[in-house]
Amino acid sequence: MAKQGNIRISSENMMPIIKKWLYSDKDIFLREIVANAVDAITKFKKLTDLGEAAADDKEYCVKVAIDKDAGTLTVEDNGIGMTEDEVEKYITQIAFSGAADFLEKYEKAGGEGIIGHFGLGFYSAYMVSENIEIFTKSYREGAAGVHWESDGESTYTIEECDKADRGTRIVMHIAKEEKEFLEEGVIRGLIEKYCAFMPYPIYLNFTGKDDKPLNDTQPLYLKAPKDCTEEEYKDFYRKTFHDYHDPLFWIHLNMDYPFRLKGILYFPKVKSKVELERGKVKLYCNQVFIADNIKEVIPEYLLLLNGVIDCPDIPLNVSRSFLQNDRQVQKISKHITKKVSDKLTGLYKTDREKFENCWNDISVFIKLGCIKDEDFYSRVKDCILYKDLDGKYRTLSEFVGGEKKEATAEGDAEQKPEEKTEEKTDEKADEQPKEPTTIYYVSDEVGQAQYISMFRTAGLNAIICDTLIDPHFLSYLEYKETGKYRFLRIDADVDAALKAGESNADEDKALVDAFKAALNNTTIAVKAEKFKSAEIPAIINVSEMSRRFGEMNAFYGLAGADADRDMTLVINAANPVLQAFTGLDDEKKKFVANQVYYLAMLSYKKLSPEEMKAFTANSVSMLEGYIR
Ligand code: ADP
Repeated sequence: MAKQGNIRISSENMMPIIKKWLYSDKDIFLREIVANAVDAITKFKKLTDLGEAAADDKEYCVKVAIDKDAGTLTVEDNGIGMTEDEVEKYITQIAFSGAADFLEKYEKAGGEGIIGHFGLGFYSAYMVSENIEIFTKSYREGAAGVHWESDGESTYTIEECDKADRGTRIVMHIAKEEKEFLEEGVIRGLIEKYCAFMPYPIYLNFTGKDDKPLNDTQPLYLKAPKDCTEEEYKDFYRKTFHDYHDPLFWIHLNMDYPFRLKGILYFPKVKSKVELERGKVKLYCNQVFIADNIKEVIPEYLLLLNGVIDCPDIPLNVSRSFLQNDRQVQKISKHITKKVSDKLTGLYKTDREKFENCWNDISVFIKLGCIKDEDFYSRVKDCILYKDLDGKYRTLSEFVGGEKKEATAEGDAEQKPEEKTEEKTDEKADEQPKEPTTIYYVSDEVGQAQYISMFRTAGLNAIICDTLIDPHFLSYLEYKETGKYRFLRIDADVDAALKAGESNADEDKALVDAFKAALNNTTIAVKAEKFKSAEIPAIINVSEMSRRFGEMNAFYGLAGADADRDMTLVINAANPVLQAFTGLDDEKKKFVANQVYYLAMLSYKKLSPEEMKAFTANSVSMLEGYIR
């Protein structure tokens, strides 16, 4: 006779609430049931190791089976099993009260996502089942089989049954509206996602012939780093992240004290220059998948990496906001950050060539890390590289040192100044504040080609900062290294080195006045300079401050994004056309002034439609003059 019982915890109202709260995440039920099965095997194995139970020659494993006709999903293990008393205690009492506990915590957290949903355990299977049966037999000698059944609402039955083998079989009668959980593809996907690294083989629809487990029971991250080969790391990466590009390099985390942390973080090859591609850092707890990209545990910028982190010491049955303020979690997060910066600085010191080769792929990640985390910045700041106009990668101090040498003597630009020298300069800078060193940068090599060629002629160099994050990063650097550096876009100013000595002020004034009088655009400021490159008639300068301000406004979609207010047309007094300018008749002055302006504007930004039309007409008439 089957015994009947009432489930003591008032669970009548639990289901609708659980269903509602966890609706989006009910997939986790399979993880919970399979994790229980794996735990049961682990427990049994421990007993055999202790000599308290006798092992058989069967493979320890979990078998998941779908029976579409019967509408059931079954998870079977050959673990420790349960006696009737244990089923009463662990399932009827603990599993259900665990769910009640979970709900209470969930309510306390204001319905906010509980990170791992741990604690819901067995009961979570009711999210997808209308009825669940358990068939189990304990490892204990002479134990009888037990059959338990409940719809999860309020009553259950329990009775003895025939079961030949040790272990537990959970039969979930899938609810009508959850039929997708009877699809092989869906179940396979869930096992691959949540159970990929569980420690015993998991089979789906076991046939007894050539079955392969869906999981990797010995994931590489558990091995000691010294025992792992490069090929194994790459292989693990490909399998785990389905990325056919090899990773650039990786960090193997492996510690037991003061907390347990194992995992591998990979630096992926970046596919596009401007976009920050989000990677995936999977969080595990004892080889059980918890979630992707938990930014409360792993600093957000590290989520640009790919990796697996297994940390059993993270409290998972708490809300995310709790996690964020948890001391232990903060320590873990700090440790990971430190390991990442150690890896970067180590690579920079020991294998500069590889570091330079990887730089384009890792720079966005590093710059974002610096902006988001000052500690990270202070650790890696001395190995941040900048590509210069020669395509060489240099640190800022190397760049500045090289520039100085180039300017003073014909020194070897490649020779890197010692860090010590730099420190000394710093001390001096502290004693008597001096002007920050100006560093010019290029944000668009094509658009700024004209300025670049002027820089080349004048023997000046600039750094290339053309990713989306660079404007923010340069501002951040100026703020962190106050008074040390000043960054100017290559078209922001006419550097003294670009000029061929001082020009005559009176002559300049006469030229500028005549030029302005002939120019259609009456609002733009005009200035004359004598450039070293005589061939360029004029350039546009926009003050760095107002351009940055405009860019910021544009970034936030605010008004005032138009930075052209502070535009200056700098005409080149060394250019033959402008040297002849004052001697031209009025009609020619008008033609030349506007054409010079259009040319400068063209290389800076787009002309207005009217200006473009006028520019084309002028050019055509010049062609006509040329062929005549
Ligand atoms: P938790 O796993 O968090 O303890 P569960 O509700 O998932 O909570 O399970 C309650 C208890 O039921 C487990 O602690 C375990 O003792 C028992 N149990 C569940 N599944 C099995 C199984 N497959 N084999 C043996 N015991 C199990």
